[in-house]
Amino acid sequence: MDSDILVSRTQATTTQGATGYLTIDLAALGRNYQKLTSMLAPVGAGAVVKADAYGLGAERVAATLYDDGCRHFFVAQFVEAVRLRPALARDAQIFVLNGLQPGNEIGCAEMGVVPVLNSLAQWRQWSATARILKRCLPAVLQFDTGMSRLGFPQEERAELAAALRDGTNVEILFIMSHLASADDIESEQNGEQFAEMSSIADEFPGFDISFANSGGVFLGDAYHGVLARPGIALYGGAPNTGGRNPMEPVISLDVAVVQTRTVPAGTKIGYGGAHVTQRQMRLATIAAGYADGLPRSLGDLGAVYFNGIRLPIVGRVSMDSATVDISALPEGALTLGSLVEVLGPNQTLEAVARDAGTISYEILTGLGDRYHKQYC
Ligand SMILES: *Cc1c(COP(=O)(O)O)cnc(C)c1O
Repeated sequence: MDSDILVSRTQATTTQGATGYLTIDLAALGRNYQKLTSMLAPVGAGAVVKADAYGLGAERVAATLYDDGCRHFFVAQFVEAVRLRPALARDAQIFVLNGLQPGNEIGCAEMGVVPVLNSLAQWRQWSATARILKRCLPAVLQFDTGMSRLGFPQEERAELAAALRDGTNVEILFIMSHLASADDIESEQNGEQFAEMSSIADEFPGFDISFANSGGVFLGDAYHGVLARPGIALYGGAPNTGGRNPMEPVISLDVAVVQTRTVPAGTKIGYGGAHVTQRQMRLATIAAGYADGLPRSLGDLGAVYFNGIRLPIVGRVSMDSATVDISALPEGALTLGSLVEVLGPNQTLEAVARDAGTISYEILTGLGDRYHKQYC
């Protein structure tokens, strides 16, 4: 008995009292990277590590992928590049997908970070910076092929081509575009964007092309260019909708029980009394809510698991907790500190996303920072 108490005390100190455990399997991440590179060979694969590597921790993720041979890392914002740069060896390149925001030019040049230039305005800023610093600066050019989000619009292409012909002190490493519907293999938009990218390649001959995100890797060789930019597939999310997910899960999330109770029929549960019990129910309150990335939309829809048994979320999800129906479990199965599975062998990222009416990306990037992150 005494030794049991000692064990739980030790666990409590090593985990600093965390009430949720986010486990990140770096070996599985590496295997996902290798799966993609073998599909892409001889074309290379970079890694998209924006938004803290979709919430998994950009520094650990990037260092792992570097060891697996990855040398091209994409973030969305310059601040992300600033944080990541010291974690990576010099021969790793970091690309900022959103490009240059005014004020970042010198910092970007000095850190050796490569901006993805999306417009003539960004192009002019970067060439002016190269003139000021009196040296050649690297860049990637992104073209809009039909997403209307980022990238040179069609009407800026002629002027850009002229600027390139006139000679420049900006070294273009490759050109790129982004697919809007690559997760849907059937979507006509894939072919439309491919055709547009082909005509851009004719207008700007001699440059390497980067086109595919995770979904694009599965659209076939034509979409691979010379460097793919997978994100979600590395982290175990399904690259395409429908069908079996070919990627290996990378994260699991277990959350602790804070309190259990038994309530009679007719009891209101949670904010707004939104759920009224139809029968006697045993309940557990778990220590994660919408501030921890369990979307409020999971109220009365989502579930957690214990020993493979589904425990439905009842009533509204609160900021820091959610209440689940544990009537299906033997009495006493869950007590203070027991862990239930939110993501793991019984419940995929996609399943939670579907219940919440969203996508795996939003679930991953929404997981809060109150969990104890453990890498294995
Ligand atoms: C986010 C992003 C990616 C990665 O997309 P996934 O669907 O996660 O593979 C690739 N390229 C660009 C430009 C992006 O913004």
